[in-house]
Amino acid sequence: MKKKTKYDYGECEICGTQIQEKLIKQDFWIRGKLIVVEDVPAGVCPRCGKKVVKADVGRLIMKLIENSERIAKSPRISVPSIKFEEEARV
Ligand SMILES: [Zn+2]
Repeated sequence: MKKKTKYDYGECEICGTQIQEKLIKQDFWIRGKLIVVEDVPAGVCPRCGKKVVKADVGRLIMKLIENSERIAKSPRISVPSIKFEEEARV
């Protein structure tokens, strides 16, 4: 099912390490709602963690997250929501 098309992301612009392709989770806030897109092919720097998303992948993501019908049918996940506290102690 998955077609593997290797793309050369080149070197990390921050630390110069060769960037590797991985499937990542990307989160977006759309009109006050958090949407997570899974299995996004992206370049990830193994040293500093910088992520690079290709322009065409970015365009596809934009299409996905604008598809409100698809979003309505997608499974929900629950995430912890923590209030910021200045005096927080661990
Ligand atoms: Zn890097």
